[in-house]
Amino acid sequence: MRAVLASGNRHKLDELRGALPGWELSLVEGVEFPPEEGSTYEANARGKARFARPLADPGAWVLGEDSGIEVAALGGGPGVHSARYEGWQDRLLREVEGVEDRSARYVCAIVALSPEGKEVVIRGTLAGCVAHEARGSEGFGYDPVFVPDGEERTVAELGNAWKREHSHRARAARALLEQIAS
Ligand code: IMP
Repeated sequence: MRAVLASGNRHKLDELRGALPGWELSLVEGVEFPPEEGSTYEANARGKARFARPLADPGAWVLGEDSGIEVAALGGGPGVHSARYEGWQDRLLREVEGVEDRSARYVCAIVALSPEGKEVVIRGTLAGCVAHEARGSEGFGYDPVFVPDGEERTVAELGNAWKREHSHRARAARALLEQIAS
């Protein structure tokens, strides 16, 4: 199976490669993707996939992916606007300072376009909470301040190998495999 990930993010590529064994997965490089203006992860993922479709090998699948973090104390925000949430981890830590309910989740939507033009839409989530301080050096984005349920370490401490197996993206990729197989 060949696929092109409509993204320039190598961390995402690495996680998806781990979750899609046997797939030959590459990035769309050297292009600037249009701004993410959708109101849902799926709309943004579809926008990326459709933008990349004509740039990709016609025999390959194209995967559009959009993700974010949803924090209960912020009414589910920054959610689909996570990439534009200025200040990132520091701002998040400040905004939930002193808040009792620190629960949050990562969400990943994938819109996969087959070589024949079929569209498969899938989501993966990872529940957890916002840490009290940033810890760890692996992963990207909010990983130093996100502790998955059942763990004490942040995702940045748990590391890239852990993410390949357990992340919201890995879960979405496995759901995609099931959907394609059914
Ligand atoms: P996008 O999906 O590239 O638009 O990015 C959404 C934003 O959500 C990223 O810039 C990160 O800040 C955050 N994000 C998405 N996935 C992850 C993840 O696996 N770990 C940490 N932050 C993430």
